[in-house]
Formats: sequence, C-alpha cells, structure tokens
Amino acid sequence: MEILETIYQEVIGFLGISQAWEILKTGNYAALKTYEGFTAFIFPIIPFLVLLELTLGLIYKKPHSKVYKVNFLIYIFNRVVGRFIAIAMVTWIIGFFQPLAPFQTSFTWYWFIYGYIVWEFGHFLYHYWGHKVRLFWCLHSTHHAPEEMNLSVTYAHFFLEAPYADTIRTTVCILAGVEPTMLFVIMFIDGTYGAFIHVGENLMKNARLGFLEKFMLTPSHHRVHHARNPLYMDTNFCNLLNIWDRVFKTYQEEQEDVKIEYGITREMNSGNFMDVYFGEIVSLAKDVWHAPGIKNKLLYLVMPPGWHHEGDHKTAKIVRANYFNSQKVKIKA
Ligand SMILES: [Zn+2]
Ligand SMILES: [Zn+2]
Repeated sequence: MEILETIYQEVIGFLGISQAWEILKTGNYAALKTYEGFTAFIFPIIPFLVLLELTLGLIYKKPHSKVYKVNFLIYIFNRVVGRFIAIAMVTWIIGFFQPLAPFQTSFTWYWFIYGYIVWEFGHFLYHYWGHKVRLFWCLHSTHHAPEEMNLSVTYAHFFLEAPYADTIRTTVCILAGVEPTMLFVIMFIDGTYGAFIHVGENLMKNARLGFLEKFMLTPSHHRVHHARNPLYMDTNFCNLLNIWDRVFKTYQEEQEDVKIEYGITREMNSGNFMDVYFGEIVSLAKDVWHAPGIKNKLLYLVMPPGWHHEGDHKTAKIVRANYFNSQKVKIKA
C-alpha cells in the first residue's frame, strides 16, 4: 500500500495543489494575502494547463504522444536524481558571493525592476552559453529534442542543467546586489512564465500577445527559439523580457512564410529517452575520441556545436549566414 501512497503524494506534488487544497479545506482565505498563500494558487496553473493541453490534443487527434511520453520519463528521472542539487547550489552561492557585492538593494518595486533586468541578463548568459559551448549544449540539448511544442516540454531538462543555470543566474544577481528574498520571488515568476511560453498550438494557436511582444518574450518568440530552421537557429535566448536579445542582436520574430520545424539538427530519435537525455554526450565523446591531438580534443568541449577540427564547420552562425546569403541571391535572381 506504501507504493500507492507514494504515487498519490507524487501526483499531488506534480499538480502542486497540496497548499491550495489546505486553504480551501480550512477556509483560511486570509492566507491568500501572504506570499505562500498567493503562490499556492499560481503553482497548479501550469500542471493544470499541461493536462488540459494533453486532453485537447487527444480530442483534436494531435496527441504529440512521443513528446509526452519522453518528457514524462524525464520528469520522473529528474525528480529522483536532480531534486536537491540546484537548491544546495543556490544556498551556497548566496552565502559565498553576497559579501562580495559592492552594494545591497532592498525589497522595493524599483529594485524589483532592477533585479528582474539583472536576472534576465544572467538568464541570457546561461542560455547563450548553453547553445554556444558544446559541453553546456550537452546539458541543454535535452530541452530542444522534442519535435512538437506543448507545455510538457517545460519538464524536458537534463538533471544537471538546473544547477548550471542557477549557478550563473544566482551569481550574477547576488554580485549585482539583488536581495535574496527578491531573488526567490523573481525565480518563481520566471519559472512560471518560463513554463507558460511552452504552450502549444492545441491550447493557443496565435501566441504573439499583441503589443506586448515589443518588450516581452512571447510563446511565439520561444517557439522560434525551439526551431531548427536556419532562419530561427540560436535566437531569442531571453525568458520574460526580450531586451537582452535586442541588445545582443539575437532577436528574431516568427515569420508567417517560414513554418517552424521543432527539434535539433542532429539525426536522433526524439521518442527515445536515452537518445534525448544522453545523445549529445555520446556524440561529443565520439568527436573528442576521434580528434587528433589534445588541443583539438579540448576545443571540441568549448567550441560551439557543429565546430569541426578540419574546418568544415556547421555551427548555427554559419548555417544562418548561408541562409541569409541564399535569400539575397534569390532576391537578385
Ligand atoms: Zn535553448
Ligand atoms: Zn524552451
């Protein structure tokens, strides 16, 4: 019976409804005014939408079954293996870097805006390197394997990616004087919004959000980020505000005449957990093994995916530049 109890607890945990259920049961609605009470009702939104999207997919007969199956397995795996590593990292970084910050901010609305912009910068760095440094791409590529988009993609992460991401984001914020409580509030908003931007077409067909796309990163922008089309590769690294993509010239809008193809360029089986989870590590290990000399071996670890020691590079930068050139030739012809 213990196993049933565990499964029940896991389901409640996944849905994130235990706190909300407590408030509803006891009728203690005053708790809603507190941070915990408020978040108790925000937490279940994404899991609820995941289930709704899954149901709509079944009704529309676009079930995305391969994507859901693998992402479900990843969710279970990460729950077991990666649970506490990220939390431990964040706690350690706060303790280590806080004394080094040149100034400390306080918990006010203007410092919140400051904190959010700093956090987005940290997010940009982690995400950009996740695409441009082959070793980090091994951690991030699991998230890009799905060949369809829906909210379950939110759970598709290699278990070491969260510690890697939080190390960079937290370090940047703490060094910039962001107050830790504020940091946790930002993390929570960022996590919830970061899940929402994976909403699929079964739930939201047009995801451009009108005028908000001028400064906010929309699900449409993030669909572009998940595309393997040459035009879209390695663009839109931000999470909620698209400012840093504009600053660093990685901003790209969805174009009606270029239909998004989800996934990565390596030939792989996106329905296979082992390939989705470890495929890039295996591929990197093979390249390192076959590369001549220690320098080339090390270069494979730090150069962008697609880099080749013989100079025949197929990096996103080159693929994208070739695409723009071919478009220019077409226009001239
Ligand atoms: Zn990415
Ligand atoms: Zn994503």
